[in-house]
Amino acid sequence: MKAWHLTSRPQGLPTIDNFALRDLPDTPLDKDQLRVRNLWLSVDPYMRGRMNDAKSYAASFQLDQPMTGGAIGKVLESRMEGFAPGDLVLHMGGWREGGVIGLDMMPNKLPTALLDAGLPPQTFLHNMGLTGGTAWIGLLRVAAAKPGDTVFVSASAGAVGSAVVQIAKAREMTVIGSAGGAEKCAWVTELGADAAIDYKAAPVLPQLAAALERLGKPGIDVYFDNVGGEHLDAAFATANDFARFAICGMIDVYNDAKPQEMKYLIRTIPARIRMEGFIYTDQFIDCMEEFYADMSGLIASGAVTIRETVHEGIEAAPEAFLGLFSGENIGKMLVRV
Ligand code: NDP
Repeated sequence: MKAWHLTSRPQGLPTIDNFALRDLPDTPLDKDQLRVRNLWLSVDPYMRGRMNDAKSYAASFQLDQPMTGGAIGKVLESRMEGFAPGDLVLHMGGWREGGVIGLDMMPNKLPTALLDAGLPPQTFLHNMGLTGGTAWIGLLRVAAAKPGDTVFVSASAGAVGSAVVQIAKAREMTVIGSAGGAEKCAWVTELGADAAIDYKAAPVLPQLAAALERLGKPGIDVYFDNVGGEHLDAAFATANDFARFAICGMIDVYNDAKPQEMKYLIRTIPARIRMEGFIYTDQFIDCMEEFYADMSGLIASGAVTIRETVHEGIEAAPEAFLGLFSGENIGKMLVRV
């Protein structure tokens, strides 16, 4: 089976030349190992940070080693207690067709009751997994958003952002989303957002201010940041007193450590804004049961849906990953192996 390896560290936006698809050795199984055939791979913006040789919350990819990431696989052979051939597992041995995975790849059997109820397995890579969990934790726990709040969310046509929009609407909040382009904005409105602004068409702040005025809202109570830069500054400019900012991601600077001009940062003082950066894995275990119960209910009722942008075949993984930075995806970017 083949796996993508990082062969050089990207400077700025990665290119296909930073990656190579190579055969993995076909080794026999040891105790506590599974042989899997991957069905779905996740590509995620945080993987860009793992391509640098810098200490961060997620370990750097080692050069010329198989890359890792979220994946859904089918067990072909098992020497791990609790797993049998045919089981579907969520694990971290992504960026590859499959192969041998151990406990370090954190395999978890997908809940059969939910699969039997019709939930597609790849849902555990988005709404029932990393991106839905990040949306839920960031909105409800970090920002402590509540019914009646006005919420602004950037990259709102992406995987995390679209889940934020829908969770917020299900809890009776007013939601303004931003996204790049008319098609994405139309989808964000379809999801229930009260307004959607196209940050590629005009500057963010005047559009956000106009949307608030149209909705009869004095400002925002919550900002869910996926982008940083101009979006974050517009959120500072329009924040109500005691607004809460959940700092989830800053994709605008992942490929380019450009300075971020924050003209309105000073409003954190008079408006008493509380900002908190958060990492999904720090908080997930603690709220896992509540998240699964709530999110599966929202999905079952149709309150939370998803669109998937799917690239076909292991060869397409780097291209899918790079598409995240040009905004090629609507909803969750996935690779079907
Ligand atoms: P998305 O599905 O949102 O895909 C990325 C989107 O970002 C693109 O579709 C694009 O949409 C937008 N984008 C790309 N470049 C820019 C830019 N320069 N300015 C504005 N928008 C841009 O990805 P995810 O939902 O997986 O992730 C969203 C954010 O959440 C990321 O910042 C990610 O790092 C973060 N994250 C954080 C986690 C945590 O634990 N803190 C966990 C998971 C994700 P458009 O066409 O609208 O520009």
